[in-house]
Amino acid sequence: MTADPVSTQPSPVLPLGIGEPLLVVRDLTKYFPVKRGVLAHVVAQVKAVDGVSFGVSRGETLGLVGESGSGKTTVGRCILRLIEPTSGSVEFEGEDVLALGNGDMRRMRRHMQIVFQDPYASLNPRMNVGTIVAEPLIIHGGMSSNERDARVAQLLEIVGLSPDYRKRYPHEFSGGQRQRIGVARALATNPKFLVLDEPVSALDVSVQAQVVNLLQDLQEQLGLTYLFIAHDLSVVEHISSRVAVMYLGKIMELAGRRELYADPLHPYTRALLSAVPIPDPTRHKSRIILSGDIPTPLNPPSGCVFHTRCPIARFPICRDAVPPLIEHKPGQFAACHFAGEPIAPPATTPS
Ligand code: ADP
Ligand code: MG
Repeated sequence: MTADPVSTQPSPVLPLGIGEPLLVVRDLTKYFPVKRGVLAHVVAQVKAVDGVSFGVSRGETLGLVGESGSGKTTVGRCILRLIEPTSGSVEFEGEDVLALGNGDMRRMRRHMQIVFQDPYASLNPRMNVGTIVAEPLIIHGGMSSNERDARVAQLLEIVGLSPDYRKRYPHEFSGGQRQRIGVARALATNPKFLVLDEPVSALDVSVQAQVVNLLQDLQEQLGLTYLFIAHDLSVVEHISSRVAVMYLGKIMELAGRRELYADPLHPYTRALLSAVPIPDPTRHKSRIILSGDIPTPLNPPSGCVFHTRCPIARFPICRDAVPPLIEHKPGQFAACHFAGEPIAPPATTPS
């Protein structure tokens, strides 16, 4: 299906999931100022996240995929307000997260937690495991130290670790075990929603599946909702209900898992997928090689940010007009003037 570039209007439809939305992000933007000189004048802006909208339904996993530097971590951190967004809105269970004061935000954080990418850097080496896992409980208060100890033992068991590990220190554990400790800490306050920021990227491939399986089991047992961040599409294929693909601070495509992997509409999604090894020999594909490097978000390309590397870009439209994220098929959104068009031999560069 081809979108008619002339009639393309911004989509009034927000890419929500099926069922009740737990989280709704609207037009989220985060610019990091670049300062120079003694007076720290702002000389430029890093457009890390630039107008991102999506919803996550209760109990689902939304995979968020993109190359390094595409803005995934910034999206996750803005949702939890670990950093303040430049603009946009974040709603959790209908409540405007960005409007909350400190006290209310602390209460909200019980329900929204994060598992960090690097289990080596994210656990304090001077704290024992018991203290690391208990920390969120101490911050939120309301438990005696005996109750906390019991909860820590229970959490370690939930993530497949022995409660006896409480007295040990992070350096005594493997990467996979450390990430289990990170998950136990994130679950301490009994949250509803977790941002999983590349939770397995730093782990050996053999261990990755174990941790993903654990996360999947926990989701089922505890009724959790996930935003699962990854830098390639293979990691999130089995765990995601829907997948969003980011490039240079924007969502290029967002669709149900089956649709996205079987029939991607955006040339960037197609290129990413063509790089993923497929074990099924009946699924035919040819490798799409993108030319050039990912541009810097300090000075992103005009129009469609992907046009400088796009195998189907046409000029001047792709260089001049920002393609809105539009629902091309039910539940399948793509931000491309020529979504779904076959990828022909590389386009010639503009004059
Ligand atoms: P990802 O998680 O997809 O790798 P990030 O969200 O970490 O991407 O970063 C997106 C862009 O924002 C990158 O270009 C990165 O260098 C920049 N960035 C992230 N954090 C900061 C910061 N605190 N100050 C300045 N630039 C930042
Ligand atoms: Mg990141």
